[in-house]
Amino acid sequence: MAKRDYYEVLGVSRNADAEEIKKAYRKLAIKYHPDKNPGDASAEEKFKEAAEAYDVLSNPEKKQRYDQYGHAGMSGSGGGYSGGNMEDIFSNFGDIFGEDSPFGSFFGGQRGGGRGRRKGSNLRIKLKLTLEEIANGTEKKIKVKRQMSCDACKGNGSKNGNAVKTCGTCNGTGQVRKVVDTMLGRMVSTTTCGVCQGSGSVITEKCTVCFGAGVTEKEEIIPVKIPAGVAEGMQLSMSGKGNYPPGGGVAGDLLIQIEEVEDTVLKRDGNNIVYDLYISFTDAVFGTTIEVPTIEGKVKIKIEAGTQSGKILRLKGKGIREVNGYEKGDQLIYVNVWTPTQLSKEEREALLRFTDSENFKPKPGKNEKSFFDKMKEFLS
Ligand SMILES: [Zn+2]
Ligand SMILES: [Zn+2]
Repeated sequence: MAKRDYYEVLGVSRNADAEEIKKAYRKLAIKYHPDKNPGDASAEEKFKEAAEAYDVLSNPEKKQRYDQYGHAGMSGSGGGYSGGNMEDIFSNFGDIFGEDSPFGSFFGGQRGGGRGRRKGSNLRIKLKLTLEEIANGTEKKIKVKRQMSCDACKGNGSKNGNAVKTCGTCNGTGQVRKVVDTMLGRMVSTTTCGVCQGSGSVITEKCTVCFGAGVTEKEEIIPVKIPAGVAEGMQLSMSGKGNYPPGGGVAGDLLIQIEEVEDTVLKRDGNNIVYDLYISFTDAVFGTTIEVPTIEGKVKIKIEAGTQSGKILRLKGKGIREVNGYEKGDQLIYVNVWTPTQLSKEEREALLRFTDSENFKPKPGKNEKSFFDKMKEFLS
């Protein structure tokens, strides 16, 4: 069967513009994508056929030659479609789909089978951060062991990088043609060469450093910028800082999971900081000025005379900045009046004198909200 017309393959007219061609290809690529049609050879063929058509029609120079001479104009030096190789097709997806690639996860993970060479695996690490680092943002140098391209063979897996020969099965094209006689006539299909996995060359002697893998494990120190406001369980992703895949391709990602080191003094509650303040009975009665820690250092606060235990004071804007935002939380200070647990004879006698004193009897008024009401007010 004759090779189908490229315009016919994409289902567009001969005067379709670049946008129409791109759109048509995008539609077909999604429909016949191998990951959507696992094990379906005819879908794979259609996928490649569409890619080939797009390769030509999206290139003004190739398109002109094709329009003038048809398929005949496409063979020969520099003119033909070099790919057909799945890797090339996938590498073209970037500009077709851009950011909203429907195959995002597909590129993110490891792919199985013979096509699994596109992107390396992700590296995962956990990163412990103190409250201060979280509050201010920080830069960390992370030591990771990554699979990197082997220096000895420049990543091709052969001894000294040059013990390769042209693949005899596909004659270096990376593709094998299959001719099948069907009721409709003779069909020629091409698939990725299984001997060389489409690379077109085979190793005659393996690299003595990586034993043919093309990658070796190396230690690397990666500087990582942590924005202010991150929280336990959040994951930061650094693209291209994961493992390189054996046989060449692009590195996976480095995924950094945030862990908070609990602060013994300041507790985090969302973007607010909570601090438990203990004051003496006499400070609660007479009032005082007292220093409290915040994430930005010590701050003096005023305790009014007659402060009740359970009062919540708010230091506005002394909390954590919203991650990648401008809003800042507050610091909430829970006032606890310390009741003496040990008394000298003299203290005991002094206090006993006030046991029946009217001023020492609790008289909660409407200014004394319940703990529940205060929480509601502060956290709303
Ligand atoms: Zn081959
Ligand atoms: Zn090597």
